[in-house]
Parts: sequence; C-alpha cells; structure tokens
Amino acid sequence: CGIVGIIGLTATTEVLLKGLERLEYRGYDSAGLYVNDQNGHDDLIKTVGKIENLRAAVGHEIQGTIGIAHTRWATHGQPSVANAHPQFSTSRRFYLVHNGVITNYHELKQTYLKDTEFVSQTDTEVIVQLVAAFVEQEGLTTQAAFQKALGLLEGSYALLLIDKQQPDTIYVGKNKSPLLIGVADGFNLIASDALATYDQTSTYLELRDQEIALVTSTDVEILTLNGEKQTREPITITIDD
Ligand code: GLU
Repeated sequence: CGIVGIIGLTATTEVLLKGLERLEYRGYDSAGLYVNDQNGHDDLIKTVGKIENLRAAVGHEIQGTIGIAHTRWATHGQPSVANAHPQFSTSRRFYLVHNGVITNYHELKQTYLKDTEFVSQTDTEVIVQLVAAFVEQEGLTTQAAFQKALGLLEGSYALLLIDKQQPDTIYVGKNKSPLLIGVADGFNLIASDALATYDQTSTYLELRDQEIALVTSTDVEILTLNGEKQTREPITITIDD
C-alpha cells in the first residue's frame, strides 16, 4: 500500500502513476487517484487490480495541477472500486487517501455520523465524512476540521486530503504510518517512500507522528494537531537507479 501526492506541476497524473508503480513492492489490491486542475475541473478514477488498469482507465486526457493517489491493501471491506481510495464525502467536496487502520471508526460513526450515508465499507470513509461534517455542519474551516478529525482518530494513518472548493492545499496527516514531504522548486510532493519521488527531488521534510502539514505549491507548514507551528530541518535522500 502506498500514497503519492503532488501540487504545483502540470505533469501531475504521470508523477502520481509513476510514483504508485515505484511503491508496488509494498503490495496492493486496488488503486486510485484524484486530480484537480485548480480551474474547475477534476477527475476521480479507481480500479481494482494492477496499476496498469488504473493507467488504462486514466488514458491521456487528465489535466491537473494538484492530485493524490493511492494503492490499497484492504483491511476493512473487500477489494472493490467503491472501497478503493480516494474516498470522498457525500457532498463530493473532500477527497482523501489513507494507509493504515482506524481502530475506533465504528465509535466515531455512531457518535458523529449517525445520519451519514456511507458508500464504502472502509474505515477510511469515516475520516473524510468527519472532516466534511465539521465543515458543513459545524462551520469550521477545513484546517480546523482536519485537526479536529485527526485528534479523534485512534490507530495508524498516513493520509492526504483535498478540499475541492480550495484546491490550493494538500492537507497531510501522519500517525505510525510512513510519510515524507518532498520539497522542490515551484512544486511539492508527499509520498510513503522517497522511492516514489526521487525523480523530482532529493530534499525531504520528515513529518512526525501526530503532526499535520499544509502543503501548497510553494510552502510546507508543519503543525501539531493543536495548530502549533513546528520547525523542521530538511534532509537529503538520494536513491541510485
Ligand atoms: N484501512 C484502509 C482500507 O482498508 C486502508 C488500507 C491501506 O493501508 O491501504 O481501506
């Protein structure tokens, strides 16, 4: 299972697909991506089986300057298109990829999402529906809703979220699952492993457990779940072909 995200490049879809291929060694049963051109057009594509299938479904048409992609190793819900990621909110405003397991997803559903209609069997859908509920019902900003939702999660996660109404930021969260932020000139990336992104950069910021990051094409802001800003020295990771 693996995650790739990118913001600020026009070759978004190719970087995502290549990145997922480089993460194939981690194992997976399905794959998917969400791409937005920051100009009113977006695409969500998910397929079961090999990344070749996703590549074929994508074709050559997809344009985008922000995107998130995922290979899934099913833990909750069988391998299927509905259960593949990105998972999305009922409003179709929020899109999320997640590696890991949320152990208290059932309780969260009961407490906060009694009236929400779920379209997958995943633990992951709870996260994206929670963010949506906190924004759409409680009036929180997306960042505040993201912090609040992540503060409620128990278990492991590396996750990326896009708010379609504000597609200039990738919201990043991490707890006990691997995730790195790759820094480049005019664009930024996020991946489970630098193997996915070494064509683009060798400069990385390591996100720690229970931290979030707000990644735009030019900035990376790292915060605690309470919103306190953190500083981080970049590290260099080089991978020989
Ligand atoms: N628990 C999530 C699911 O079953 C994510 C699995 C993964 O890490 O790929 O959908």
